Amino acid sequence: MARRLRSINGQVNASGGKAISNAEAEEAFRTILKWIGEDPNRDGLRETPDRLVRSYREYFCGYDEDPEQVLRKTFAEVDGYDELIVLRGVTFESHCEHHVAPIIGRVWVGYIPDKRVVGISKLARVVEIFSKRLQIQERLTAQIANTIEEVLKPAGVAVVVKAAHHCMISRGVHKRGSDLVTSRMLGVFRDQPSTRSEFLSLVNADTSE
Ligand SMILES: [Zn+2]
Repeated sequence: MARRLRSINGQVNASGGKAISNAEAEEAFRTILKWIGEDPNRDGLRETPDRLVRSYREYFCGYDEDPEQVLRKTFAEVDGYDELIVLRGVTFESHCEHHVAPIIGRVWVGYIPDKRVVGISKLARVVEIFSKRLQIQERLTAQIANTIEEVLKPAGVAVVVKAAHHCMISRGVHKRGSDLVTSRMLGVFRDQPSTRSEFLSLVNADTSE
């Protein structure tokens, strides 16, 4: 079971410290607005700390959910289906844990079932939950693959993530148009080159347009 980092009403308790209220978080954003040279009391900014708090709730709602739980509802009667199942190019938005800058990308998830399959929307939910946390792309990729492997125990899992990192676009080296590509191959995708290339050819077909 993934560790629950927040209670349902979203009070932060991951560090074991006291819960942070919305008012305290708003005050912190007000301080940052002053720090950049703004007047947080002017008309256009008065509601901004509150909007920021609500936006952050949305960006980071993945701490409130358990991706393993999402995958537990499986279907066992699949008439021996043991071929590749692929969720292609599902979009995600995440934030890098180094700069809290957006990571915008797509994920390809493939697996070969062993008796149990899961609704395709559940795979998309797993991507969603892990992406709505502070991330690095390498860990996001690994977490998606590892969770599917742990819960579904398939013959193999393959995950490819392609994403643009805004910490490289709007700050730092200021480079547009470059994607970071990460992958994790488990089971038959790791052991059988033909299975891996079948999956990768689908990924490449989606991104070579
Ligand atoms: Zn970053």
